[in-house]
Amino acid sequence: MESTLLHDIGLLVTPLEMEMNDHRRPVYELQKAAVWIEDGRFKQIARSEELLKSVPASVTRVHAQNKLMVPGFVDCHAHPVFVGNRAKEFFLRNQGASYQDIAAAGGGIHATAERIKTSRVDQIVRESLPRFHRSLEFGVTTLECKSGYGLTWDSEEKLLIALREIAKVVPQRLSKTFLVHVVPAEWKDRREEFVEAVMNEMIPEVAARGLANCVDVFCEEGAFTVDESRKILQVALDEGLSITIHANQFGHSGGARLAAELGARSADHLEYLSEDEMDALREAGVPGVALPACVFFMGTIPYPPMRKMIDRGMRIALATDMNPGTAMTESLPFCMTAAAIYGKLKANELLWAVTLDPARILGVSGNTGSIEAGKYADFSLWSVPSLESIPYFFGQSGADSVWIEGAEVFTGEDSVKRY
Ligand SMILES: [Zn+2]
Repeated sequence: MESTLLHDIGLLVTPLEMEMNDHRRPVYELQKAAVWIEDGRFKQIARSEELLKSVPASVTRVHAQNKLMVPGFVDCHAHPVFVGNRAKEFFLRNQGASYQDIAAAGGGIHATAERIKTSRVDQIVRESLPRFHRSLEFGVTTLECKSGYGLTWDSEEKLLIALREIAKVVPQRLSKTFLVHVVPAEWKDRREEFVEAVMNEMIPEVAARGLANCVDVFCEEGAFTVDESRKILQVALDEGLSITIHANQFGHSGGARLAAELGARSADHLEYLSEDEMDALREAGVPGVALPACVFFMGTIPYPPMRKMIDRGMRIALATDMNPGTAMTESLPFCMTAAAIYGKLKANELLWAVTLDPARILGVSGNTGSIEAGKYADFSLWSVPSLESIPYFFGQSGADSVWIEGAEVFTGEDSVKRY
């Protein structure tokens, strides 16, 4: 039986399962803490001096060097599997280039789809793997991964197979989502037929082969209408899959209301969200997922009204939206910084929004998302004195070490203490 006592943790901060419905989002803090890990799970959490005395001497002892300990982060909205680099497009967009200019210069989602069409699975895996490594360095131990850049079934299937291969070699827990993103260029004059193919062929195949456990639709002008999204998501529900929606990114698309109507696991983006829409989501028990790195990177849309969402009783999570077009980052700590500045979230709310709340969205909160006895020992250690310091040292915060199921899976090379 593997057993470890991690002691001399400077400060342990975590949300607690029993406070899941406490709207003030309190966090539990313990100074000079220790955690006893057995068979990959937390067995006991207490003060260091106490556990050092009570835990049997046969248990391996690891000194935590007085670092900060937080639960492993959960990134519940990411598109990490793709090929290519769209840095040139980033500059074109910043200079005011139109969607058409960008497409003509070889950018945009259809350009990524073209690249995937001509790539082999092993190339997709090779280009995608560093993103998973970076995500881990930022303390993410559970990561949602969407397909959606293939567009046609042949390419989408390739992405989902690549994801299955990636899941075998990365230490993180992955949650797989089939994203119905936009109508492929090849189908642009046969839109209805494409929606039928998604409903009658693609989703049943995804479900039958276990290629993903969730279906997501981009419900927005230029992507899929509310009626199309409803039909597609209803098929997913009938197939026993969970559902989520890219909603209200560029306007009041109806996506947020549809998420409430269908009881989606989350409604994501929500840059445009009225009080009525907030109330509909709250009453349906559907949490919102804010993606502040995407807003930052695009520079043309408003931040979702995060403070207001919380104050009106909504639950919210933060995620990276890691993708080649509109959020090329793996950093959840950066998202915390942006949500602190532009969403006015407090440090305790930020911690909930990157741990237990997204874990609940992905359906894994029974096993991860907080540092509590019985849960997997998924956590990270940071050379900073407080929770507030993670978003405070902005654009540079990486964990010193990251643990998943009681095993250290990442060790930083430079763990100079920051004060
Ligand atoms: Zn997205």
